[in-house]
Amino acid sequence: MKYRIIGISAAAVLMVLTAVLLKLDSANPKNRIHQHLTARQPDAGCDCDDSELCTHLPLVIIDTEGQEIPGENIEESIVPETGEYNEFTLGPDGSSTIPCSIKVMDSSVSNNHPSDEAELESYGRIRIRGNTSRLFDKKGYLLITTKEDYQTSQDLQMLGMSSHHEWALHGPFMDKSLIRNYMWYNISGEIMDYAPNVRFCEVILNGEYLGLYVMVETITNGEGGRLNMTLPDNDYQTQISYAIRLDRGSSNPIKNVDTFTTYAYRNQHVLEIVYPGAGGLSTERVDFITNDFSSFEKSLYSYDYDTEPYAYWNYADMDSFAEYFILNEFICNYEVGARSTYIYKDLKGKFKMCMWDLNTVCGNMVADTTMHFEMQYLTWFYMLCKDEKFVDRIIDRYRELRQTYLSDEYLLGYIDDVIEYLGPAIDRNFEVWGYTFEEYLPLIPEERNPEDYEEAVNQMKDFIVERGAWMDENIEILKQYCHESKVKKFNH
Ligand SMILES: [Zn+2]
Repeated sequence: MKYRIIGISAAAVLMVLTAVLLKLDSANPKNRIHQHLTARQPDAGCDCDDSELCTHLPLVIIDTEGQEIPGENIEESIVPETGEYNEFTLGPDGSSTIPCSIKVMDSSVSNNHPSDEAELESYGRIRIRGNTSRLFDKKGYLLITTKEDYQTSQDLQMLGMSSHHEWALHGPFMDKSLIRNYMWYNISGEIMDYAPNVRFCEVILNGEYLGLYVMVETITNGEGGRLNMTLPDNDYQTQISYAIRLDRGSSNPIKNVDTFTTYAYRNQHVLEIVYPGAGGLSTERVDFITNDFSSFEKSLYSYDYDTEPYAYWNYADMDSFAEYFILNEFICNYEVGARSTYIYKDLKGKFKMCMWDLNTVCGNMVADTTMHFEMQYLTWFYMLCKDEKFVDRIIDRYRELRQTYLSDEYLLGYIDDVIEYLGPAIDRNFEVWGYTFEEYLPLIPEERNPEDYEEAVNQMKDFIVERGAWMDENIEILKQYCHESKVKKFNH
C-alpha cells in the first residue's frame, strides 16, 4: 500500500513483535483497547455503490444548523508578553457553547456511510477548544452530549469508550503524521495508571467533510470511567477526589486555586480545578483542595522533604511522577510544566499525573531543540529530582520500559500498524488538508517541515530512534541533580 513504510522484512518484524508482545503481556495485564488492532480493517470491503463517503473508520456527523461555532480567538485580547489570546467568541446567548446534533456511524459488520442508520444519536453542545490549536484551519472541538433540552448533560458510550458526556475532538493539523495523539495516549495508557482513551474517526460538520479526527476522553471523573476515582457519598461531603491542571486558568474564578507555590512564585501559570466541575464545587470543597494540594507542595519544598514522617512520597505516587517524567522526556513534550499539566488524587490515594496534549511531541515543536533533559527544571520535578530515590526510580523504570513499550521495535512497529489501519482515510484527509505540506510550515528552520506524508512519518521514526539512543547513553546524568553537592543547602 502507498503509505506503508517498511525497513525490514515482514518475517523479521513478526519475530521481533512476537517476542516484544510476549514480554509485554506478562509485564502488564491492562485491557486497553488499541483501535487499530481490534476494529474493522480497511481491506474488509463494502458492497455499496460508492455514491457517498464509504469508510471503515467510524463516522461522526455534527450539525449546528449552520450556526457559527464559538471559541475563536478574539484578536484584541492577545496578551503581548505571552502572545496568547485571553478571550474567545461566544454563542448568541453569551454561552461558550452552542447546541448541536451528533450522529455516530460505527458499524461492526460493514463500512460506514453518511446515510447509514446511526449507532449513536444525541443532542449536544459544541465549541472550539485548544490553546495554540485554535489558530489552526482544522479546528479542535469540545463536544458535550446532552438530553433533549441541550442543557442537561447525558452520559453516553462513544465509539466503545466508557460512558461520559464530555469529549475532545482533536483534528491532527500541525501533526502531519496524523498519529501522535493516538499513539502516545495509548502507549502512556499502557505505562501509567490512566491516560485518555482515543479513537480515530472521520468527521462531517454541517455537511462538510473535515477529514481525520481523534475522539479523546477529557481528563475528568465519572461513574466507572476516566480517572475512576472514589465518588463523594453526598453533595455535602467536603473531602473529595479531585483533578487539577496547570494551564491558563479558568474564566470561572471559583475553579482557580491559589496554592502554596503560587505565593512562592514558582508557577507562572494558574492551577485550575477540572474535577469536580463548577456545579460540584462549594467554597468548602475549594478550600479543601487548596489546602490539600498545598500540603503536598509544602512537604516538597520543606527542610525535611525526604525524611519521614514529612516526606513528599507520603503525598505523591512516586511511580506515577517517575513515569510521567520518563514519557515526557522520551517524546520531548516540553509544553508541560506550564500548559496542560494534569494532576489528580483519589480521596483514598496519592497524587498522580496524567498526560495531555501530545500534538507537538517527537520533534514537532516549532523550535528545534537539541538533545537534553528539561523536566528536572519544571514545577514539582525541580524538587523531586533532588531526591536520589526518585532519580533512581526514573533510571530503573526507563531501562525497564526500553525493553517493552519504549523499545524501538515496539514503537516503529506500532507506527506501521496504525498507518496500515488508517489506509485510505489518510488520502481522504489530505485531499482536504494536503495544502499544508506547501502552505503551512510552522517548524523553524523551514527545512524541518516535511514535504509529504511519508517524510512526516519518517521524521517521527528517526526522532524516536535517536532520542532512545541518546537517553540510553545519558540517563545517568540525571544523578547530578540529586548529588549531595547540589542538594546540600536544602538539607542543612
Ligand atoms: Zn460502502
